[in-house]
Amino acid sequence: HYRPQPQSIAFEELQAILLETPREEKAQEWSKYYTSGPHLAGKNYSQAVWTQERWEEWGIKSGIVAYDVYINYPLGHRLALYENKKKGKDDVDSWKVKFEASLVEDVLDEDPTTGLEDSIPTFHGYSASGNVTAPYVYVNYGTYQDYEDLINANISLEGKIAVAKYGGIFRGLKVKRAQELGMVGTILFSDPGDDGAASDENNVTTYPKGPARNPSSVQRGSAQFLSVAPGDPTTPGYPSKPGVPRQPVEGGIPSIPSIPISYVDAIPILKALNGHGPSSKDLNKHWERNQGLKYKGVDYNVGPSPDDLVLNLVNEQEYVTTPLWNVIGVINGTLPDEVIVIGNHRDAWIAGGAGDPNSGSAALNEVVRSFGVALSQGWKPLRTIVIASWDGEEYGLVGSTEWVEEYLPWLSHANVAYVNLDVATVGPIFHASASPLLNKLLYEVTALIPSPNQTVPGQTLGDLWNGHISTMGSGSDFTAFQDHAGVPSIDFGFGPNEEDTNNAVYHYHSNYDSYYWMNTYGDPGFHYHIATAKLFGLFTARLAESPVIPLNATDYAIALDEYISKVESKLSGTAEEDDIEVRARPTPTGHKGDLEDLKVSFKRLHKAAKKLKKAAKAHDAWAIELAEEAGQDIPWWKWYSKIKLYYNIRRANSKYKYLERQFLYSKGLDSRPWFKHIVFAPGLWTGYSGAVFPGLVEAIDAKDYGIAQKWVGIIHGSLYKAAGSLE
Ligand code: GLU
Ligand code: CA
Ligand code: ZN
Ligand code: ZN
Repeated sequence: HYRPQPQSIAFEELQAILLETPREEKAQEWSKYYTSGPHLAGKNYSQAVWTQERWEEWGIKSGIVAYDVYINYPLGHRLALYENKKKGKDDVDSWKVKFEASLVEDVLDEDPTTGLEDSIPTFHGYSASGNVTAPYVYVNYGTYQDYEDLINANISLEGKIAVAKYGGIFRGLKVKRAQELGMVGTILFSDPGDDGAASDENNVTTYPKGPARNPSSVQRGSAQFLSVAPGDPTTPGYPSKPGVPRQPVEGGIPSIPSIPISYVDAIPILKALNGHGPSSKDLNKHWERNQGLKYKGVDYNVGPSPDDLVLNLVNEQEYVTTPLWNVIGVINGTLPDEVIVIGNHRDAWIAGGAGDPNSGSAALNEVVRSFGVALSQGWKPLRTIVIASWDGEEYGLVGSTEWVEEYLPWLSHANVAYVNLDVATVGPIFHASASPLLNKLLYEVTALIPSPNQTVPGQTLGDLWNGHISTMGSGSDFTAFQDHAGVPSIDFGFGPNEEDTNNAVYHYHSNYDSYYWMNTYGDPGFHYHIATAKLFGLFTARLAESPVIPLNATDYAIALDEYISKVESKLSGTAEEDDIEVRARPTPTGHKGDLEDLKVSFKRLHKAAKKLKKAAKAHDAWAIELAEEAGQDIPWWKWYSKIKLYYNIRRANSKYKYLERQFLYSKGLDSRPWFKHIVFAPGLWTGYSGAVFPGLVEAIDAKDYGIAQKWVGIIHGSLYKAAGSLE
């Protein structure tokens, strides 16, 4: 039962503390600490303890929550190009090594953490061990469409090794499609053509002397099939506590070996394809984009390489079930059933990780320290705030997913929102993705944050930003909250300006994502770190303190109607392309008539969205009235004299809290039941970028209009349920 506790500080005071406490020197100190040595998942216990100790020191009760997870560590690798000039293919002695890839990143005098003795080799998380020797094919970005283009051009893929550029989609999906098509291995390289203007080709000096990509840089990263399910692949849907039963991993992680390489190592391999098979521009126009190695003599022919030119790919991984450690801090609020969770991961592929994740970790620590200052001045939050330093994000969002799976009943009941930071500051361009429920709050709070450089006095972060908010995809720790638990989530940060030749290329998942890089190029002076900390802190504080939860239902309803129109236009597109056979897609079970029915049924969806919009508008209007009556200035504990207002606010808040949950479907998506959200999921073949109405869209892509009709029914029902929940 509600008991007022008249002991807190005014919101203005809290806001001032959150805007004044974060300090550049402090963020620098945390960045330096976190980037001083390897901290792979399962090997960063000392950093977990250090984090917990700092949070405790700043006055936040914290603990370590461990899970036993299935992950891999690298043992060895090799990549060599073999040629047989004598054409005696069966004669072992006539094969000669034409090129041996180094598979290491250069040690740089300027950048001390590149030379650590125990630095982490280049490898892929969840990659399969294997030793394969085969001809190879250049597959562009390795997207679903790229592989389709190759099939349509009659390029033989079976038994070959795929050589793909990084970029566009999540790397694990490049491996997944290669595997499905019978290919035997995958090599992923970083093409400098994808780095934007700052490249060696444009005479920009390479790192460490300048901002262009260091030619030996390698992007490590997970190769798990993210769009199937994140988390520990042996425990889908339940937490990896010690002793729990384990499922077989087939289908969730690759069975063919893969390794990442630098462009220096890629050049001889790609050059050897010159003259073999079609030129990539003959396949499809989009293949010509960002071919950044032409100036090095690479013609980007597709291949396959002839039988006397083969790659030997060796990948040796050790799989273990090992503990990992989330650090969880809690600030108890007055209302225990309204909880805000915020988080950032701590693990990194490399010694440094100054951008990923430690720009986020440094900013998070400044937020925790600021919360501590506020607590010491008498702050008692209205809502409970849970703070997480996740482990194992890099392998597949493992720490956050296992935690959400463990606390799902409580989160479903109490979690109002999740706020995520990951790669927070690796350039000057602000970006955000969010559930539309949180859009309005982001606009409000960015308008209160001073811009990092104050080139114009009084300029705010909102002034710098183009205002675009993306839909939630995946690739960071918000995924289990948004897509599995139905908790409205948000993720933001600053990324590179790719049009600017002076802008430093971000060496994602490379040894050069280091403290030296950050301090010299990424965020000299750490001003962007501090802007991020202020935004993160104030955004969380507004969620925790506003008497009426600051979500906006109308924005969600409007967005849903737009998504329906988007899918509808896709459907007319599909209808026109009806005769184009797309190979490797599932065979339709429906017939033509169903397509017409489906088009008609979109009217029902728009009608339901309209109903939701009406209910949402009414609810938001009521919420504004209540908020005005409560007043941002009037401390909540004065409500005891306004018991009716208190109960009305609690009712309004619970409707806001459960609105996102209305879009969960307990059976999940058809091909990946862990994903429960019917509006948002990572695209089946994109991974990072989000799909809207994924069940419906995937059925339409498969031309299965019967299944599509089922999804129309599910969506229709949810829209009505959501409208009803607000009424
Ligand atoms: N941030 C990680 C990556 O993009 C996530 C890995 C995953 O989602 O599996 O590599
Ligand atoms: Ca699990
Ligand atoms: Zn990250
Ligand atoms: Zn990462």
